[in-house]
Amino acid sequence: MPQRTPTEPDARRRIPRTDTLLAAPEFVAAAEQSGADAVKAAIQRAQSAARAGRIAPEAVAAAALADLSDRHGRPTSLRRVVNATGVVLHTNLGRATLSPGAREAMTLAGGYCDVEFDLADGRRARRGRGTLDALAERLPEGTGTLVVNNGAAALALVAATLAVAAGRPEIVVSRGELVEIGDGFRIPELLESVGARLVEVGTTNRTHLRDYDAGIGPATGFVLKVHPSNFRVSGFTSSVPIAALAPLCRERDLPLVSDIGSGLLTPDPLLPHEPDATTTLTDGAAIVTASCDKLLGGPQGGLVVGEPATVERVRRHPLARAMRVDKTTLAALEASLRSPTPTHQALHADADTLRERAERLAAAVGSDPACVGLTVEVVRSDGAVGGGCAPEVPLPGWAVRVPQRLAEPLRTGRDTAVDGELPSVVGRLDDGALLLDVRCVTDSEIPLVARALAAACREQS
Ligand SMILES: *Cc1c(COP(=O)(O)O)cnc(C)c1O
Repeated sequence: MPQRTPTEPDARRRIPRTDTLLAAPEFVAAAEQSGADAVKAAIQRAQSAARAGRIAPEAVAAAALADLSDRHGRPTSLRRVVNATGVVLHTNLGRATLSPGAREAMTLAGGYCDVEFDLADGRRARRGRGTLDALAERLPEGTGTLVVNNGAAALALVAATLAVAAGRPEIVVSRGELVEIGDGFRIPELLESVGARLVEVGTTNRTHLRDYDAGIGPATGFVLKVHPSNFRVSGFTSSVPIAALAPLCRERDLPLVSDIGSGLLTPDPLLPHEPDATTTLTDGAAIVTASCDKLLGGPQGGLVVGEPATVERVRRHPLARAMRVDKTTLAALEASLRSPTPTHQALHADADTLRERAERLAAAVGSDPACVGLTVEVVRSDGAVGGGCAPEVPLPGWAVRVPQRLAEPLRTGRDTAVDGELPSVVGRLDDGALLLDVRCVTDSEIPLVARALAAACREQS
Protein backbone atom coordinates (compact mmCIF):
# COMPACT_ATOMS: atom_id res chain seq x y z
CA MET A 1 0.00 0.00 0.00
CA PRO A 2 1.38 3.43 -0.82
CA GLN A 3 1.81 5.59 2.26
CA ARG A 4 -0.93 8.22 2.49
CA THR A 5 0.34 11.65 3.29
CA PRO A 6 -1.42 12.98 6.41
CA THR A 7 -2.67 16.07 4.58
CA GLU A 8 -4.48 14.13 1.86
CA PRO A 9 -7.83 13.49 3.58
CA ASP A 10 -7.70 17.05 4.74
CA ALA A 11 -7.09 18.31 1.22
CA ARG A 12 -10.00 16.22 -0.02
CA ARG A 13 -12.24 17.81 2.56
CA ARG A 14 -11.32 21.23 1.18
CA ILE A 15 -12.62 20.35 -2.30
CA PRO A 16 -15.79 22.42 -2.70
CA ARG A 17 -19.05 20.48 -2.94
CA THR A 18 -21.03 20.41 -6.17
CA ASP A 19 -24.20 21.98 -4.74
CA THR A 20 -22.21 24.77 -3.07
CA LEU A 21 -20.57 25.64 -6.38
CA LEU A 22 -23.80 25.35 -8.37
CA ALA A 23 -25.38 27.95 -6.06
CA ALA A 24 -22.58 30.49 -6.57
CA PRO A 25 -23.58 33.41 -8.86
CA GLU A 26 -20.86 32.80 -11.45
CA PHE A 27 -22.01 29.18 -11.85
CA VAL A 28 -25.66 30.18 -12.02
CA ALA A 29 -24.71 32.52 -14.88
CA ALA A 30 -22.65 29.79 -16.55
CA ALA A 31 -25.62 27.40 -16.32
CA GLU A 32 -27.79 29.93 -18.13
CA GLN A 33 -25.27 30.02 -20.97
CA SER A 34 -24.13 26.44 -21.24
CA GLY A 35 -26.86 24.43 -19.51
CA ALA A 36 -26.92 22.87 -16.04
CA ASP A 37 -25.57 19.50 -17.22
CA ALA A 38 -22.49 21.03 -18.84
CA VAL A 39 -21.79 23.05 -15.68
CA LYS A 40 -22.16 20.02 -13.43
CA ALA A 41 -19.86 18.00 -15.68
CA ALA A 42 -17.22 20.75 -15.65
CA ILE A 43 -17.39 20.92 -11.83
CA GLN A 44 -17.00 17.17 -11.61
CA ARG A 45 -13.97 17.20 -13.93
CA ALA A 46 -12.33 19.88 -11.78
CA GLN A 47 -13.15 17.99 -8.57
CA SER A 48 -11.58 14.80 -9.86
CA ALA A 49 -8.52 16.77 -10.95
CA ALA A 50 -8.23 18.00 -7.35
CA ARG A 51 -8.78 14.51 -5.92
CA ALA A 52 -6.01 13.24 -8.18
CA GLY A 53 -3.76 16.03 -6.91
CA ARG A 54 -3.44 17.71 -10.31
CA ILE A 55 -4.87 21.00 -9.01
CA ALA A 56 -5.27 22.47 -5.52
CA PRO A 57 -8.71 22.22 -3.86
CA GLU A 58 -8.84 26.02 -3.87
CA ALA A 59 -8.47 26.02 -7.68
CA VAL A 60 -11.53 23.87 -8.39
CA ALA A 61 -14.00 26.71 -9.01
CA ALA A 62 -11.66 28.61 -11.31
CA ALA A 63 -10.70 25.44 -13.21
CA ALA A 64 -14.35 24.53 -13.79
CA LEU A 65 -15.14 28.04 -15.04
CA ALA A 66 -12.10 28.08 -17.34
CA ASP A 67 -13.10 24.69 -18.69
CA LEU A 68 -16.62 25.97 -19.38
CA SER A 69 -15.53 29.12 -21.14
CA ASP A 70 -13.07 27.05 -23.20
CA ARG A 71 -15.89 24.80 -24.35
CA HIS A 72 -18.58 27.40 -24.60
CA GLY A 73 -20.03 27.75 -28.06
CA ARG A 74 -17.98 24.87 -29.43
CA PRO A 75 -20.07 21.97 -30.58
CA THR A 76 -17.11 19.61 -30.60
CA SER A 77 -13.93 19.14 -28.64
CA LEU A 78 -12.05 18.74 -31.92
CA ARG A 79 -9.83 21.71 -32.69
CA ARG A 80 -9.23 23.15 -36.10
CA VAL A 81 -5.64 22.66 -37.28
CA VAL A 82 -3.75 24.43 -40.03
CA ASN A 83 -1.62 21.72 -41.61
CA ALA A 84 1.79 23.30 -42.17
CA THR A 85 3.62 19.96 -42.11
CA GLY A 86 3.80 19.61 -45.90
CA VAL A 87 2.32 16.12 -45.54
CA VAL A 88 -0.84 16.10 -47.65
CA LEU A 89 -2.55 13.05 -46.14
CA HIS A 90 -1.53 13.43 -42.50
CA THR A 91 -3.02 10.45 -40.65
CA ASN A 92 -2.96 12.15 -37.24
CA LEU A 93 -4.64 15.24 -38.67
CA GLY A 94 -7.49 13.27 -40.24
CA ARG A 95 -6.03 12.27 -43.65
CA ALA A 96 -7.78 14.04 -46.53
CA THR A 97 -9.18 17.51 -45.94
CA LEU A 98 -12.56 18.07 -47.59
CA SER A 99 -13.38 20.73 -50.17
CA PRO A 100 -15.77 23.53 -49.19
CA GLY A 101 -18.35 21.84 -51.44
CA ALA A 102 -17.95 18.52 -49.62
CA ARG A 103 -18.34 20.24 -46.24
CA GLU A 104 -21.46 21.99 -47.45
CA ALA A 105 -22.83 18.66 -48.68
CA MET A 106 -22.18 17.10 -45.26
CA THR A 107 -24.02 19.88 -43.52
CA LEU A 108 -26.99 19.49 -45.85
CA ALA A 109 -27.08 15.73 -45.34
CA GLY A 110 -26.89 16.23 -41.57
CA GLY A 111 -30.59 17.06 -41.67
CA TYR A 112 -33.41 15.04 -43.17
CA CYS A 113 -32.60 14.36 -46.81
CA ASP A 114 -33.64 12.06 -49.65
CA VAL A 115 -30.74 9.62 -49.12
CA GLU A 116 -33.08 6.64 -49.50
CA PHE A 117 -36.26 8.25 -50.79
CA ASP A 118 -37.58 9.20 -54.22
CA LEU A 119 -39.15 12.62 -53.94
CA ALA A 120 -40.81 12.25 -57.37
CA ASP A 121 -42.91 9.23 -56.52
CA GLY A 122 -42.74 9.27 -52.74
CA ARG A 123 -41.25 5.80 -52.45
CA ARG A 124 -38.11 4.22 -51.08
CA ALA A 125 -35.10 4.61 -53.40
CA ARG A 126 -31.60 3.12 -53.70
CA ARG A 127 -29.53 4.51 -50.84
CA GLY A 128 -26.80 6.92 -51.92
CA ARG A 129 -27.63 6.57 -55.62
CA GLY A 130 -26.22 10.02 -56.51
CA THR A 131 -22.88 9.08 -54.96
CA LEU A 132 -22.78 5.64 -56.59
CA ASP A 133 -23.58 7.23 -59.96
CA ALA A 134 -20.83 9.83 -59.50
CA LEU A 135 -18.41 7.02 -58.71
CA ALA A 136 -19.51 4.93 -61.70
CA GLU A 137 -19.01 7.93 -63.99
CA ARG A 138 -15.34 8.03 -63.01
CA LEU A 139 -14.82 4.32 -63.76
CA PRO A 140 -15.04 2.16 -66.91
CA GLU A 141 -18.57 1.85 -68.26
CA GLY A 142 -20.68 -0.79 -66.57
CA THR A 143 -18.64 -0.96 -63.34
CA GLY A 144 -20.61 -1.98 -60.22
CA THR A 145 -20.09 0.23 -57.14
CA LEU A 146 -20.45 -0.08 -53.38
CA VAL A 147 -19.24 2.21 -50.59
CA VAL A 148 -18.49 0.98 -47.06
CA ASN A 149 -16.85 2.43 -43.96
CA ASN A 150 -13.20 2.29 -44.97
CA GLY A 151 -10.67 0.38 -47.05
CA ALA A 152 -10.19 -2.29 -44.40
CA ALA A 153 -13.97 -2.89 -44.26
CA ALA A 154 -14.10 -3.17 -48.05
CA LEU A 155 -11.45 -5.88 -48.09
CA ALA A 156 -12.89 -7.77 -45.09
CA LEU A 157 -16.35 -7.73 -46.68
CA VAL A 158 -15.01 -9.02 -49.99
CA ALA A 159 -13.21 -11.85 -48.15
CA ALA A 160 -16.33 -12.69 -46.14
CA THR A 161 -18.41 -12.87 -49.32
CA LEU A 162 -16.16 -14.29 -52.03
CA ALA A 163 -14.17 -16.68 -49.85
CA VAL A 164 -15.88 -17.57 -46.56
CA ALA A 165 -19.57 -17.40 -47.55
CA ALA A 166 -18.77 -19.07 -50.87
CA GLY A 167 -17.53 -22.11 -48.91
CA ARG A 168 -14.03 -21.77 -50.38
CA PRO A 169 -12.22 -19.91 -47.62
CA GLU A 170 -8.71 -19.81 -49.09
CA ILE A 171 -7.24 -16.60 -50.45
CA VAL A 172 -4.09 -16.90 -52.55
CA VAL A 173 -1.73 -13.96 -51.98
CA SER A 174 1.96 -13.18 -52.53
CA ARG A 175 4.30 -13.16 -49.52
CA GLY A 176 5.58 -9.81 -50.73
CA GLU A 177 2.14 -8.25 -50.21
CA LEU A 178 1.33 -9.17 -46.59
CA VAL A 179 1.16 -5.58 -45.47
CA GLU A 180 0.78 -3.91 -42.08
CA ILE A 181 -1.44 -0.89 -42.78
CA GLY A 182 -0.89 1.14 -39.62
CA ASP A 183 -1.52 1.24 -35.89
CA GLY A 184 -0.49 -2.44 -35.75
CA PHE A 185 -3.26 -3.65 -38.07
CA ARG A 186 -2.24 -6.22 -40.66
CA ILE A 187 -4.00 -7.29 -43.84
CA PRO A 188 -3.47 -11.04 -43.21
CA GLU A 189 -4.97 -10.81 -39.72
CA LEU A 190 -7.87 -8.75 -41.04
CA LEU A 191 -8.67 -11.43 -43.60
CA GLU A 192 -8.32 -14.23 -41.06
CA SER A 193 -10.61 -12.39 -38.65
CA VAL A 194 -13.57 -12.98 -40.98
CA GLY A 195 -12.72 -16.67 -41.29
CA ALA A 196 -10.59 -16.67 -44.44
CA ARG A 197 -7.36 -18.69 -44.69
CA LEU A 198 -4.34 -17.28 -46.46
CA VAL A 199 -2.34 -19.34 -48.89
CA GLU A 200 0.92 -17.44 -49.16
CA VAL A 201 2.82 -17.91 -52.38
CA GLY A 202 6.23 -16.80 -53.66
CA THR A 203 8.83 -15.06 -51.49
CA THR A 204 9.16 -11.60 -49.99
CA ASN A 205 11.00 -10.22 -53.00
CA ARG A 206 9.89 -12.43 -55.87
CA THR A 207 6.61 -14.05 -56.82
CA HIS A 208 5.92 -15.61 -60.23
CA LEU A 209 2.79 -16.63 -62.12
CA ARG A 210 3.66 -20.29 -61.50
CA ASP A 211 3.57 -19.63 -57.73
CA TYR A 212 -0.03 -18.44 -57.98
CA ASP A 213 -0.85 -21.38 -60.23
CA ALA A 214 0.52 -23.82 -57.66
CA GLY A 215 -1.26 -22.08 -54.78
CA ILE A 216 -4.73 -22.35 -56.31
CA GLY A 217 -6.71 -25.38 -55.13
CA PRO A 218 -10.29 -26.60 -54.70
CA ALA A 219 -10.77 -24.43 -51.56
CA THR A 220 -9.56 -21.20 -53.21
CA GLY A 221 -12.14 -18.41 -53.01
CA PHE A 222 -10.15 -15.78 -54.88
CA VAL A 223 -6.71 -14.51 -55.76
CA LEU A 224 -5.70 -11.30 -54.04
CA LYS A 225 -3.23 -8.58 -55.00
CA VAL A 226 -2.43 -6.01 -52.31
CA HIS A 227 -0.61 -2.82 -53.20
CA PRO A 228 2.29 -2.44 -50.76
CA SER A 229 1.41 1.23 -50.30
CA ASN A 230 3.71 2.25 -47.51
CA PHE A 231 7.01 0.62 -48.50
CA ARG A 232 9.03 -0.35 -51.55
CA VAL A 233 11.00 -3.52 -52.12
CA SER A 234 13.87 -2.71 -54.44
CA GLY A 235 16.70 -4.72 -55.93
CA PHE A 236 16.12 -8.30 -57.06
CA THR A 237 12.34 -8.23 -57.17
CA SER A 238 9.53 -9.52 -59.29
CA SER A 239 5.79 -9.52 -58.94
CA VAL A 240 2.97 -10.53 -61.26
CA PRO A 241 0.97 -7.64 -62.68
CA ILE A 242 -2.83 -7.79 -62.81
CA ALA A 243 -2.81 -8.16 -66.60
CA ALA A 244 -0.70 -11.33 -66.31
CA LEU A 245 -2.65 -12.77 -63.39
CA ALA A 246 -6.11 -12.16 -64.89
CA PRO A 247 -5.97 -14.89 -67.59
CA LEU A 248 -4.96 -17.48 -64.98
CA CYS A 249 -7.86 -16.50 -62.72
CA ARG A 250 -10.27 -16.56 -65.67
CA GLU A 251 -9.05 -20.02 -66.65
CA ARG A 252 -9.58 -21.26 -63.06
CA ASP A 253 -12.90 -19.44 -62.82
CA LEU A 254 -11.76 -17.40 -59.80
CA PRO A 255 -12.28 -13.71 -59.05
CA LEU A 256 -9.13 -11.60 -59.04
CA VAL A 257 -9.37 -9.02 -56.27
CA SER A 258 -7.00 -6.05 -56.06
CA ASP A 259 -6.63 -3.89 -52.96
CA ILE A 260 -5.10 -0.75 -54.47
CA GLY A 261 -5.20 1.15 -51.16
CA SER A 262 -5.03 4.80 -52.15
CA GLY A 263 -8.28 5.19 -54.11
CA LEU A 264 -6.74 6.77 -57.19
CA LEU A 265 -9.46 6.34 -59.84
CA THR A 266 -7.34 7.10 -62.93
CA PRO A 267 -3.56 7.27 -63.37
CA ASP A 268 -1.69 10.24 -61.92
CA PRO A 269 1.62 10.99 -63.70
CA LEU A 270 2.96 12.50 -60.46
CA LEU A 271 2.62 9.12 -58.75
CA PRO A 272 3.73 6.56 -61.35
CA HIS A 273 3.87 3.66 -58.88
CA GLU A 274 0.36 4.14 -57.48
CA PRO A 275 -2.13 1.75 -59.06
CA ASP A 276 -5.50 3.21 -60.08
CA ALA A 277 -8.94 1.61 -60.17
CA THR A 278 -9.62 2.18 -63.89
CA THR A 279 -6.39 0.57 -65.11
CA THR A 280 -6.68 -2.26 -62.58
CA LEU A 281 -10.20 -3.07 -63.78
CA THR A 282 -9.39 -2.83 -67.47
CA ASP A 283 -6.33 -5.03 -66.85
CA GLY A 284 -8.73 -7.72 -65.68
CA ALA A 285 -9.37 -7.47 -61.92
CA ALA A 286 -12.92 -8.56 -61.03
CA ILE A 287 -12.99 -6.40 -57.89
CA VAL A 288 -10.97 -3.41 -56.70
CA THR A 289 -11.04 -2.24 -53.09
CA ALA A 290 -9.68 1.12 -51.91
CA SER A 291 -9.90 3.92 -49.34
CA CYS A 292 -11.88 7.10 -49.98
CA ASP A 293 -9.79 9.41 -47.77
CA LYS A 294 -6.36 8.87 -49.28
CA LEU A 295 -5.60 9.96 -52.85
CA LEU A 296 -9.29 10.07 -53.77
CA GLY A 297 -9.42 13.00 -51.35
CA GLY A 298 -12.87 12.30 -49.90
CA PRO A 299 -14.29 11.45 -46.47
CA GLN A 300 -13.37 8.23 -44.65
CA GLY A 301 -14.87 5.38 -46.69
CA GLY A 302 -14.04 2.25 -48.62
CA LEU A 303 -14.77 1.31 -52.22
CA VAL A 304 -15.77 -2.07 -53.61
CA VAL A 305 -15.98 -1.68 -57.40
CA GLY A 306 -15.92 -4.08 -60.32
CA GLU A 307 -18.08 -6.75 -61.97
CA PRO A 308 -21.66 -5.73 -61.21
CA ALA A 309 -22.88 -9.23 -60.28
CA THR A 310 -19.92 -9.75 -57.93
CA VAL A 311 -20.35 -6.32 -56.31
CA GLU A 312 -24.03 -7.14 -55.83
CA ARG A 313 -23.13 -10.37 -54.01
CA VAL A 314 -20.84 -8.37 -51.73
CA ARG A 315 -23.60 -5.81 -51.14
CA ARG A 316 -26.04 -8.55 -50.08
CA HIS A 317 -23.70 -10.07 -47.46
CA PRO A 318 -25.09 -9.47 -43.93
CA LEU A 319 -21.86 -7.77 -42.85
CA ALA A 320 -22.40 -5.10 -45.53
CA ARG A 321 -25.08 -3.67 -43.28
CA ALA A 322 -22.62 -3.46 -40.39
CA MET A 323 -20.21 -1.55 -42.60
CA ARG A 324 -22.76 0.80 -44.15
CA VAL A 325 -21.73 4.43 -44.54
CA ASP A 326 -23.50 7.39 -43.07
CA LYS A 327 -25.53 9.81 -45.22
CA THR A 328 -23.09 12.65 -44.49
CA THR A 329 -20.24 10.49 -45.82
CA LEU A 330 -22.21 9.71 -48.98
CA ALA A 331 -22.85 13.41 -49.48
CA ALA A 332 -19.21 14.42 -48.99
CA LEU A 333 -18.02 11.61 -51.23
CA GLU A 334 -20.30 12.66 -54.06
CA ALA A 335 -19.01 16.23 -53.84
CA SER A 336 -15.42 14.98 -53.73
CA LEU A 337 -16.00 12.88 -56.84
CA ARG A 338 -17.59 15.70 -58.79
CA SER A 339 -15.08 18.51 -58.26
CA PRO A 340 -11.33 18.94 -57.66
CA THR A 341 -10.29 17.93 -54.15
CA PRO A 342 -7.90 19.86 -51.88
CA THR A 343 -5.78 16.67 -51.84
CA HIS A 344 -5.36 16.83 -55.60
CA GLN A 345 -4.65 20.55 -55.48
CA ALA A 346 -2.06 20.24 -52.71
CA LEU A 347 -0.29 17.37 -54.49
CA HIS A 348 -0.17 19.22 -57.78
CA ALA A 349 0.52 22.76 -56.53
CA ASP A 350 3.43 24.12 -58.53
CA ALA A 351 6.57 25.28 -56.83
CA ASP A 352 6.22 28.93 -57.95
CA THR A 353 2.74 29.21 -56.44
CA LEU A 354 4.04 27.71 -53.19
CA ARG A 355 7.02 30.05 -53.13
CA GLU A 356 4.76 33.05 -53.65
CA ARG A 357 2.47 31.79 -50.83
CA ALA A 358 5.44 31.35 -48.47
CA GLU A 359 6.69 34.84 -49.34
CA ARG A 360 3.28 36.29 -48.59
CA LEU A 361 3.29 34.59 -45.19
CA ALA A 362 6.82 35.78 -44.42
CA ALA A 363 5.90 39.35 -45.43
CA ALA A 364 2.79 39.34 -43.24
CA VAL A 365 4.81 38.10 -40.28
CA GLY A 366 7.66 40.54 -40.94
CA SER A 367 5.31 43.53 -40.95
CA ASP A 368 3.68 42.62 -37.61
CA PRO A 369 5.06 44.73 -34.73
CA ALA A 370 4.83 41.69 -32.43
CA CYS A 371 7.40 39.90 -34.58
CA VAL A 372 10.11 42.57 -34.68
CA GLY A 373 13.52 40.90 -34.52
CA LEU A 374 12.16 37.47 -35.38
CA THR A 375 14.24 35.49 -37.90
CA VAL A 376 11.86 34.56 -40.69
CA GLU A 377 13.21 32.93 -43.84
CA VAL A 378 11.58 31.50 -46.95
CA VAL A 379 13.26 28.15 -47.64
CA ARG A 380 12.84 25.13 -49.88
CA SER A 381 10.96 22.28 -48.27
CA ASP A 382 10.09 18.79 -49.44
CA GLY A 383 6.56 17.75 -48.59
CA ALA A 384 5.23 14.20 -48.76
CA VAL A 385 2.06 12.47 -49.92
CA GLY A 386 1.52 10.76 -46.55
CA GLY A 387 -1.26 8.37 -45.56
CA GLY A 388 1.04 5.50 -46.46
CA CYS A 389 0.95 6.50 -50.15
CA ALA A 390 3.90 6.88 -52.49
CA PRO A 391 6.56 6.92 -49.75
CA GLU A 392 9.34 7.43 -52.32
CA VAL A 393 7.91 10.56 -53.93
CA PRO A 394 9.20 13.89 -52.53
CA LEU A 395 7.05 16.95 -53.20
CA PRO A 396 9.40 19.90 -53.71
CA GLY A 397 7.90 23.07 -52.28
CA TRP A 398 8.49 26.02 -49.95
CA ALA A 399 8.22 26.81 -46.28
CA VAL A 400 8.65 29.66 -43.83
CA ARG A 401 11.39 28.92 -41.31
CA VAL A 402 11.03 30.33 -37.80
CA PRO A 403 12.66 29.54 -34.43
CA GLN A 404 11.68 26.19 -32.95
CA ARG A 405 10.52 27.77 -29.69
CA LEU A 406 7.37 28.95 -31.51
CA ALA A 407 6.29 25.37 -32.24
CA GLU A 408 4.50 24.81 -28.95
CA PRO A 409 2.47 28.04 -28.73
CA LEU A 410 1.53 27.67 -32.40
CA ARG A 411 0.46 24.08 -31.91
CA THR A 412 -1.69 24.68 -28.86
CA GLY A 413 -3.40 27.73 -30.39
CA ARG A 414 -5.84 29.56 -28.15
CA ASP A 415 -8.22 32.38 -27.60
CA THR A 416 -6.41 35.59 -26.96
CA ALA A 417 -7.89 38.90 -25.98
CA VAL A 418 -6.16 40.56 -28.95
CA ASP A 419 -6.73 37.99 -31.67
CA GLY A 420 -9.88 36.12 -30.78
CA GLU A 421 -9.79 32.43 -31.48
CA LEU A 422 -6.77 31.20 -33.38
CA PRO A 423 -6.42 27.77 -34.96
CA SER A 424 -3.65 25.41 -34.00
CA VAL A 425 -0.81 25.51 -36.50
CA VAL A 426 1.23 22.34 -36.80
CA GLY A 427 4.52 22.59 -38.65
CA ARG A 428 7.57 20.38 -39.00
CA LEU A 429 10.70 20.49 -36.87
CA ASP A 430 13.87 20.57 -38.92
CA ASP A 431 17.41 21.03 -37.73
CA GLY A 432 16.57 23.16 -34.69
CA ALA A 433 13.97 25.28 -36.51
CA LEU A 434 10.27 25.13 -37.21
CA LEU A 435 9.28 24.84 -40.86
CA LEU A 436 5.82 26.02 -41.84
CA ASP A 437 5.39 24.28 -45.20
CA VAL A 438 2.66 26.08 -47.15
CA ARG A 439 1.66 23.20 -49.47
CA CYS A 440 -1.48 22.35 -47.47
CA VAL A 441 -2.11 25.88 -46.16
CA THR A 442 -4.85 27.56 -48.18
CA ASP A 443 -4.56 31.18 -49.30
CA SER A 444 -7.32 32.15 -46.89
CA GLU A 445 -5.37 30.57 -44.02
CA ILE A 446 -2.23 32.65 -44.61
CA PRO A 447 -3.47 35.69 -42.60
CA LEU A 448 -4.59 33.32 -39.82
CA VAL A 449 -1.17 31.72 -39.62
CA ALA A 450 0.44 35.17 -39.57
CA ARG A 451 -1.81 36.19 -36.68
CA ALA A 452 -1.07 32.94 -34.84
CA LEU A 453 2.66 33.60 -35.26
CA ALA A 454 2.27 37.13 -33.93
CA ALA A 455 0.31 35.82 -30.94
CA ALA A 456 3.01 33.20 -30.31
CA CYS A 457 5.70 35.94 -30.41
CA ARG A 458 3.75 38.11 -27.97
CA GLU A 459 3.30 35.15 -25.64
CA GLN A 460 7.06 34.64 -25.56
CA SER A 461 8.13 38.24 -25.21
C1 LIG B 1 -4.73 2.25 -46.40
C2 LIG B 1 -4.83 0.86 -46.91
C3 LIG B 1 -5.81 0.00 -46.41
C4 LIG B 1 -6.74 0.41 -45.31
O1 LIG B 1 -7.64 1.38 -45.72
P1 LIG B 1 -8.43 2.23 -44.59
O2 LIG B 1 -9.32 3.11 -45.39
O3 LIG B 1 -7.40 2.94 -43.81
O4 LIG B 1 -9.18 1.24 -43.79
C5 LIG B 1 -5.88 -1.27 -46.92
N1 LIG B 1 -5.03 -1.69 -47.88
C6 LIG B 1 -4.09 -0.87 -48.40
C7 LIG B 1 -3.20 -1.40 -49.47
C8 LIG B 1 -3.95 0.42 -47.94
O5 LIG B 1 -3.01 1.23 -48.44
